[in-house]
Amino acid sequence: MHRRIADEIVEVLEALWTSEEDGGASEDGVAQRAKTTVTPELLSECEQHGYIRRGGGQIALTDLGRRTAEEVIRRHRLAERLVVDVIGMTIEESEADACEFEHLLARGVTEAICTLLGHPRLCPHQRPIPEGDCCRRARDQVSSVVTSVDRLEIGEQARVAYVSARNYPRIQKLSSLGILPGLPVRVHQKFPSFVIQCEETQIAIEEEIARDIYVWRGGAGSSEPS
Ligand SMILES: [Zn+2]
Ligand SMILES: [Zn+2]
Repeated sequence: MHRRIADEIVEVLEALWTSEEDGGASEDGVAQRAKTTVTPELLSECEQHGYIRRGGGQIALTDLGRRTAEEVIRRHRLAERLVVDVIGMTIEESEADACEFEHLLARGVTEAICTLLGHPRLCPHQRPIPEGDCCRRARDQVSSVVTSVDRLEIGEQARVAYVSARNYPRIQKLSSLGILPGLPVRVHQKFPSFVIQCEETQIAIEEEIARDIYVWRGGAGSSEPS
């Protein structure tokens, strides 16, 4: 019973967070946006727990509510990015309901997924993803950022993070060529054709394909000492 109530509270806080992003929140607006039925009792409960402030039909997150919502919003939007960028589905195609996205990511893997995705700043709906500690660390350490192979400088060392699954046959083709997550890769030339070197093998690929290969710059993400 308590678990169910907690989920409902979380839905209210999420709806309130997005309403505040859009410039402010009325109780009616939050009720429309929330993926749960917002009863007066539910709002009172959020207030009693110290998550929200209410007055004159308006509603706002308290500091506690903001911290609680931020964590959920972060997981929700990172899970959306994971589904779109790595699994290659559109949000509509994925079977997750909007309110289930945050449950796709366990708390403990949020930082790892954020790092894998290159600390994305926006979700597929172009809403900001709240920063985590990993994002703040990455800003001080440019080399840990994930980018696509076509953006590397010639000769720059990198390591394959993942191949975007927007195109499944392409993933199979790239893995048959030996381009696999974890392997070192660098750009040999960009013109007249795009040639990458993965381990000892040089492979000519179309630039479009290079855009689907995501890498950690500077060989970061490796477990080997460099
Ligand atoms: Zn989104
Ligand atoms: Zn991050």
